[in-house]
Amino acid sequence: MAKKLFIKTYGCQMNVYDSGRMADALVPHGYAVTDRADDADLVILNTCHIREKAAEKVYSELGRLQQLRRRRQEAGDDLLIGVAGCVAQAEGAVLLERAPYVDIVVGPQSYHRLPELLHRRARSRNAALDIDFPLESKFDRLPEEMAAAPGVAAFLTVQEGCDKFCTFCVVPYTRGVEASRPAIAILAEARRLVAAGAREITLLGQNVNAYRGAGPDGRNWDLARLIRALAEIDGLQRIRYTTSHPRDLGPELIAAHGEVAKLMPFLHLPVQSGSDRILSAMNRRHSADEYRRTIERLRRARPDIALSSDFIVGFPGESDGDFRATLALVEEIGFAQAFSFKYSPRPGTPAASMRGQVNDRIKTERLAELQALLAQQSDAFQQATVGRTLPVLLERPGRYPGQLVGRTPHLQAVHVAAPDAGPGDLIGVLITASHAHSLAAEPIASAPVVAPDPQQGRAACA
Ligand code: SF4
Repeated sequence: MAKKLFIKTYGCQMNVYDSGRMADALVPHGYAVTDRADDADLVILNTCHIREKAAEKVYSELGRLQQLRRRRQEAGDDLLIGVAGCVAQAEGAVLLERAPYVDIVVGPQSYHRLPELLHRRARSRNAALDIDFPLESKFDRLPEEMAAAPGVAAFLTVQEGCDKFCTFCVVPYTRGVEASRPAIAILAEARRLVAAGAREITLLGQNVNAYRGAGPDGRNWDLARLIRALAEIDGLQRIRYTTSHPRDLGPELIAAHGEVAKLMPFLHLPVQSGSDRILSAMNRRHSADEYRRTIERLRRARPDIALSSDFIVGFPGESDGDFRATLALVEEIGFAQAFSFKYSPRPGTPAASMRGQVNDRIKTERLAELQALLAQQSDAFQQATVGRTLPVLLERPGRYPGQLVGRTPHLQAVHVAAPDAGPGDLIGVLITASHAHSLAAEPIASAPVVAPDPQQGRAACA
């Protein structure tokens, strides 16, 4: 009988993708995926180091798993515990000192070695630790067969690591330098995903638009070239990519937004701050005006593009004037969606030891002011969609009979009663109402079922 594997995923979409690939690596070795930790033989925590106190949260969860293991052992059973992801990479051997009952610690570049690590653990009294940056690529070693169907909207990692070294961020230390997969391997994986039912693919990378992968023509392809090749795949209807750095959004990629109908008109482009002084302290390597000009070019190429961003408030040294510059940039650009956080130090990053750490009360006040403005813009964006007809890609059944949940080209969730349709269908709908995080719609036969013309109508944003 197959042993049961439960993977708990924290953090970003890249971790979601990695968890799927870990399952792919283990299923051929006698594991079957379960969605319950309670009856698993192996539990892996796929961790994220971005949020505050990430490591402490992992240790608390490990404490709970240790208790689960005791209960299982009392019942004559056992449980293996693994830690993967960025906390595993950052903590390494320290993790095994603090939680000696953990069986496997594996960094993000070594998932293909999981079966070998399990064997090593079975043969030894010691835990198996692998946080190398191996010379061989995990992507070349992971099996092609998928442990689970990808769903209508699938993720595909094309790039990993980051060379930007923003002073607040741990990614360059946990994921290593920028590395891109060869285009031919990505195209092959995309075809397999489409054959398995995917209709939308989001290309993932810590710094995805820095993609420079070997092309089948012997040249290095950039992300724009890769997107154009993916757009040729029959059955693939939508392409997205995340997360991008403003400095790497070059003319070719901007042109692709204007010319590739399958590339959806929604872009997450983190700016973090509207103050040049703070952007420089963050080592972001672009100014607020350069960000503005990039957005202008994007909007010229794709007038209906909607934008999302990340903001950090209360970065060390941020004055009230710096914060006002962030508000001014938000007012000027208008975001459909955004993620905003108070700055919190990450151990080992340069910003953690900078002078001028901002008082928490001030951070809280600034964050509330920024979030009020962003919420107003996002509400206005949602409201402006009401009354429009849009193509919606249906992803899954909704809560009610006949109801389905899908997404607009701008990534808005839509609930639609469409008993004759199913997941994977691209249908035309009339948006009838806007709620906090979703839209309501009704199907209309005459609505467009292809992506809107890239040159039509600007997305409304306050
Ligand atoms: S570009 Fe993104 S991933 Fe890279 S260091 Fe900066 S914040 Fe981190």
